[in-house]
Amino acid sequence: MHRDLSEYHTKGEVLIVEDTPASLKLLSDLLTEAGYYVRQAPNGELALWTAQSRPPELILLDIRMPGIDGFEVCRRLKEIPELQQVPVIFLSAQHDTDDKVRGFALGGVDFIAKPFQTEEILARADAHVRLGRAQKALAAERAHLEQRVAERTAELAATAQSLELEVRQRRANEELLRLAGQVFEATLDAIVITDPATNIVAANPAFSKISGYTAQEVIGQPVVMLHAGQVNTATYATMVQSLQNGGHWSGEILARRKNGDTYPGLLSVSSVRDADGHVLNHIAVFMDITERKAEQHLIDFLSNHDALTGLPNRLLARQRFEHAAAAARRDGQCVAVLCLDLDRFKSINDSYGPHVGDKTLQVVARFLSETVREGDTVTRQGGDEFQIIVQDDVQLGATLALAQRILDGLRRELIIDGQPISLTSSIGIAISPSDGDSFDELVRNADTALFRAKETGRDHYAFFTERMDAEIRDKLAIQGQLRGAIARGEFEVHYQPQMCLRTGVMLGAEALLRWDNAVLGKVPPNRFIPLAEEYGLITAIGEWVLDTVCAQIRAWHDAGVGDMKVAVNLSGGQFAHDGTVAFVENTLRKYGVAPASLGIEITEGTVMGDPDKAVAALKKLKNIGVSISLDDFGTGYSSLGYLKRFPIDVLKIDKSFVDDVTTNANDAAIALSVISLAHNLNMRVIAEGVETRAQMEFLAQRGCDEMQGYYFSRPLAGPAFTALMRERRNLLEL
Ligand code: C2E
Ligand code: CA
Ligand code: CA
Repeated sequence: MHRDLSEYHTKGEVLIVEDTPASLKLLSDLLTEAGYYVRQAPNGELALWTAQSRPPELILLDIRMPGIDGFEVCRRLKEIPELQQVPVIFLSAQHDTDDKVRGFALGGVDFIAKPFQTEEILARADAHVRLGRAQKALAAERAHLEQRVAERTAELAATAQSLELEVRQRRANEELLRLAGQVFEATLDAIVITDPATNIVAANPAFSKISGYTAQEVIGQPVVMLHAGQVNTATYATMVQSLQNGGHWSGEILARRKNGDTYPGLLSVSSVRDADGHVLNHIAVFMDITERKAEQHLIDFLSNHDALTGLPNRLLARQRFEHAAAAARRDGQCVAVLCLDLDRFKSINDSYGPHVGDKTLQVVARFLSETVREGDTVTRQGGDEFQIIVQDDVQLGATLALAQRILDGLRRELIIDGQPISLTSSIGIAISPSDGDSFDELVRNADTALFRAKETGRDHYAFFTERMDAEIRDKLAIQGQLRGAIARGEFEVHYQPQMCLRTGVMLGAEALLRWDNAVLGKVPPNRFIPLAEEYGLITAIGEWVLDTVCAQIRAWHDAGVGDMKVAVNLSGGQFAHDGTVAFVENTLRKYGVAPASLGIEITEGTVMGDPDKAVAALKKLKNIGVSISLDDFGTGYSSLGYLKRFPIDVLKIDKSFVDDVTTNANDAAIALSVISLAHNLNMRVIAEGVETRAQMEFLAQRGCDEMQGYYFSRPLAGPAFTALMRERRNLLEL
C-alpha cells in the first residue's frame, strides 16, 4: 500500500526567498550540500513567479525584504490553489514574537531565527519536506483506494444485476457467470454477499484472508458479527437510509477479526434489486486500512509536535490553552502562561557545537515535562524558548511553586555527551484573564516579562504586571522570613493599657505582637498576621504569644508589681484550630496564672463566619474562666440573635468609629448604639483608638466603660510597661 517515493529525485525541492546575498548563498550551499534541489528568489515578486512556474516542496521565506515583504508573499501564495499546501518557513530575527504571531496567522508552519543554526535549518527543512510528502502520498492513496472500491462495486453490481436478469429469464449466460466468479475469487478486497435480511450467503477468499474466518464459518450468520463493539446507531441509520434511497453506502467501520483483534475498514455496500424494486442481496466490499491509519497518526503527531523535542507545537498548544481557559472560566480560576528561555544558550551552541545544543534542548524538554503537574502543557516554539500553560487559582500558588522548581532544577549542572553544562533559565509570566484572553496575547506579554526577568539579572522570574511582581516578591519575602522568626527570637509582645473611665485606673492591657526582622525591618502585624494565616504559621505564632503573655503575667506577680489582666488577640485560623482551648488551659496551668487574668479578643468578622461553631468554641473558652471581647465591633454584621447567644463580656467599639466620633453624627450614633446595646446585653464597652481628650470626654459622658488609645499610652515593650505599672499613675489626669 506504500507509495514508492523514488519519483522524488532529491531530498526535496526548496525555494529560498532572501534579499541578503550572503544569507541566500549560505542557505543555498547548506541545503544543496545536504541533498536538496535548491531554487532561489532574491525578492518577493520573483518568489511568486518562481513558485507558480513549478510548485516547490518547501519555501524558506525571509520576512524583511524591500518591495513585497515576506508576510505579503505568504498571503499571496496561500491564495493560489496549487501552492496552498506548500509549507512556508519564515526566516526572522530572534525573539520577534509579533512576527511569529503574524506569520502563523498567515499560514506559515514554522520559524527559523537568525543568525542561522545549521542543525536547526536541516532538522526543520527535513521535517516539513517529509511531512509534505507524506500528506501528498496519503491524499493520493485515499483517492486511489476510493476509486478502486467504487470500480469494484460497480463491476459487481453490474454483474450481479445482469446475472439476476439472466436467471429470471432463464437465459443463463455462462461467460458472465464465469467473469463474476473470477472477480469474486481473485480480487484483493473482501467481498461479502448477504440476503435481504442481512444474513451472509457468500464470502470470497480475500475476506477469509483479512478476517481469519472461512466462508463456511460465516455463511448463515448475520453480517453484524463482523462488526467490532457497539454499532454506532447514527452511522447505522444513515447506512440504511442511503441503501434505501440510492442503493449505496460507503464509509469507515471498525471490524473484528476471528482472533478478536479489531481493525479499521473502508466499507462499500450496494443493494441489488429485482425489476420490482425488491432487495435481493446486499454486496459489501471492504478493505483493511490499518496501515493507512497508522500513517495518519504519524502525520497527526508530526503536524502537532516539535520535531526536535517531541513537545506539542504552537498549533496544539493553542488548542490546549483554549481548553484550559474554558475550564478556568468555569471554575473561577486563572491560566498562567510561562515563557522560559535558557540563559546564554547561544554560548553552549558556540562552545560545544549544535549537536550538544540540540541534546541540551531535549534534556530540558524532558525535565520540564516531568516537572509540571499532570494537565499542564509544555511546548517549544523554536530556539531555546519553551512555554508552559498552567491552570491555577487566583493566588497563583501552583504557578509560583512551578517557576521556582524549574529555576532550581535547571540551575544544577547537566552532563551532556560527557560535557558538564551549566544552565540557568529565566521565566516571564502572564496571567489570563488579567493580562489577556488569547494565547498569542499572553505569549507576547509573557515574553515582555521574560525580557524584564533577563534584564534584572537572569535566573529569575517576572510577571507581566509589575504590580503583581512587587506584591508577590513582597509576600514571598515575608513568607521566607516568617518561618524562622520564632526560632531567631524576632518577636516581641507590646502591651497597651486599657483604662477604667470611672476610676482612672489601669484595668489591664492588650497584648500586641511586634516583629523586627533583620532583612525586612519592622513589619506591622496587619501585614504579616494574614500571611501567617495563609501559610499555616498562625497557630505556632499565636501559641508563642500566649506563652509569652502568661510568662509575663507570672513575672509581674512574682516581682510584686501587681496583677494585670492581659487581652490576647486570637485570629480566625487559631480560633478554628481544635487544640487552642487545650493550649490556653495548659499554658495557664504551666505558669500558675489565674484564668481571670487572661482575656481573649476575637473579631466580629471571625465569629460571624460560622456563628454556630463560634458559640460552641467561645463557650469552651469561657468555661476555662477567661473573659472574651468582641473586637472591631460595628464593622461586621452581627445579628442581635447571635449576639445574645455569644458568651461575651466586652464589646470593643472599632477605632474607625472613634476617629470622628466628635465630628461625624453617624459615627457618634453608632458609638452610642453600641454602648446601649452592650449594656442591654449586660456586657461592658471599651473604645479603642482614643487619641484626643475630646474623644475621651465624649465617650465617657455617654457611658462607655473602658478605653484604650494613644491618648493614654502607645503599646509599650514589657520593661516600659512594667515601669508604668510601678508608677501607678492615674493616666486620666494628664
Ligand atoms: P487590633 O486588635 O484592632 O489592635 C488595635 C490596633 O490599633 C493596634 O495596632 C494598636 O497599636 C493600634 N492602636 C491602639 N491605639 C491607637 C490609637 O490611639 N491610634 C492609632 N492610630 N492606633 C492605635 P497594631 O499593633 O498594629 O495591630 C494591628 C492588628 O494586628 C490588631 O488589630 C490585631 O488584629 C492584629 N494583631 C496584633 N497582635 C496580634 C497577635 O498577637 N495575634 C493576632 N492574632 N493578631 C494580632
Ligand atoms: Ca485587638
Ligand atoms: Ca480592633
